[in-house]
Amino acid sequence: MDFGLQGKSVLVTAASKGIGKATALGFLREGAKVTICARDADGLKLAHEELVAATGGQLLAIQADVTDAKQVAELVEAAESAHGPIQVLVNNAGGPPPGDHKAITESQWTNSFELTVQSAVRLTNLVLPEMEKAGWGRVINISSYSVKQPMDNMMLSNSLRLAVLGWAKTLSSEVAESGVLVNTVCPGWTDTDRVNGLLQHQSLEHGVSEAEVLATITDKVPLNRLAHAEEIANVIIFLASEAASYVTGAAIPVDGGAARVV
Ligand code: NAD
Repeated sequence: MDFGLQGKSVLVTAASKGIGKATALGFLREGAKVTICARDADGLKLAHEELVAATGGQLLAIQADVTDAKQVAELVEAAESAHGPIQVLVNNAGGPPPGDHKAITESQWTNSFELTVQSAVRLTNLVLPEMEKAGWGRVINISSYSVKQPMDNMMLSNSLRLAVLGWAKTLSSEVAESGVLVNTVCPGWTDTDRVNGLLQHQSLEHGVSEAEVLATITDKVPLNRLAHAEEIANVIIFLASEAASYVTGAAIPVDGGAARVV
């Protein structure tokens, strides 16, 4: 199937590792012109080298923190001057910290709002006018399957990711007539540094092996394993493509069946 992404200008944020990096790789394989960002200069440089070596594609890597309004504006400016107006925006960021209602401080609420909600709103507002002018665009948010089934001890993520869903759904109908589609991908447990760090941490904390910690997670997943980051990226690429031309306002779980909802 021709996804029609050849030559498209794509921005994937928070993409030096994990799901963001796998998504950038997928777009490069489709022949898109891709811009990525991350906070960490060394990690970003390494990702740039690996992605270009793997694909020979057109890739721009800009150091930027998605919570910083000035850096985000400069990121969009650099991406647009290198590759033209952004046609596909993938809003990704690190996740908010865990904790229950007693543990979370007021500043954690504020910072996590900036990270999870404001970053997506701000970036989207910067690129939408050009998408609307062109009569074509895709905004895809990376969320979590916890928007379908809240996870214990994840008060910030469970709350703020639902705000993103409400915003995305509302926006999808506001911009539908201009040819811009807005969707959200909701990954389940995925094999990335983030999850590997969690496995290590829980293994030390509970005095059990990492394999045992992993089994407690995958036992609850019908497909009985973690996702590969590429499997999340595949759905993002599809949503960006011409093949998904009648999909908007959706929140699609890619979770191996983990969320027990219909
Ligand atoms: P990861 O830790 O492997 O990679 C995160 C990337 O985001 C890195 O490139 C990091 O440099 C970048 N980043 C973090 N904060 C940033 C910021 N403020 N500005 C710019 N870049 C920043 O994470 P991942 O596992 O790929 O997760 C990506 C998203 O998907 C997160 O929101 C996470 O909560 C969510 N998610 C992950 C899983 C999973 O199992 N891995 C499951 C559900 C949801």
